[in-house]
Amino acid sequence: MARENTSFAGIVMYRRPYKERDLLVKFLTDKRGPMMFFVRGGNRSHAKITSDILPFTHGQYTGWLADDGSLSYLSAARDTRQYVHLGEDPLRSAYATYILELVDATFEEGRSIGGWFNQVAAALELIDKGQDPQIAANVLEVQFLPLLGAAQTWDRCTICGLNDRPLDFSEANGGMLCSRHWNLDEHRFHLDRRTVGYLQLFASLNLVQVNQIQVDQSVKNRLRYTLDRIYDDELGLHLKSKRFIDQMATWENQLKNLRSEN
Ligand SMILES: [Zn+2]
Repeated sequence: MARENTSFAGIVMYRRPYKERDLLVKFLTDKRGPMMFFVRGGNRSHAKITSDILPFTHGQYTGWLADDGSLSYLSAARDTRQYVHLGEDPLRSAYATYILELVDATFEEGRSIGGWFNQVAAALELIDKGQDPQIAANVLEVQFLPLLGAAQTWDRCTICGLNDRPLDFSEANGGMLCSRHWNLDEHRFHLDRRTVGYLQLFASLNLVQVNQIQVDQSVKNRLRYTLDRIYDDELGLHLKSKRFIDQMATWENQLKNLRSEN
């Protein structure tokens, strides 16, 4: 089996102990997408590399990269930085975990991912800086759909190709319907203009150039609903981290109800 000694930019996706002293660390790499690395001695607290491979760490790494899906070996790290604020807040941390789990489901191991690396890093960076974690995740959810084999037409009517009238999302048609064609789908989503506008914006938004994201709660709820339906119905993708986020939303609502009762 061939391994190439190379340096790469990486983000720690998750890690797990291997035997007593070693670690298996999954990285998102800029060169070859998600890859699993064996880190000898990584599970020993005094190992030099320990702080470089903590969850939510971003940096430049050197290692032996396997080209056949077998384990790669990590040998050195430099310029590493942890997204420290992600761990401070359960919702931020849940969304960051979800984004990385979604990345793992979207990209094949060992393949180049082009500009996606910077896009994912920018999403984590925005959440770390305190921007809305749901919106950062929603942007990637929209953009990953074509990669997952569920591309949707956001910018025009899927029937007539026009966008001169209000658009609404139709799951059955794989995208938007203009008001002339709303009669074709009685289950269309009844989205308002702003939600449609955000979905269109997200499809081509470069997160690297975004500093601030602010979206009304009512629009956020419709974005969440729309993307959840597509991910459930079209892809059947149910990630553990996403279930946790949904649970947190339920608890929040229960607390709100309790407060309003008192
Ligand atoms: Zn139409």
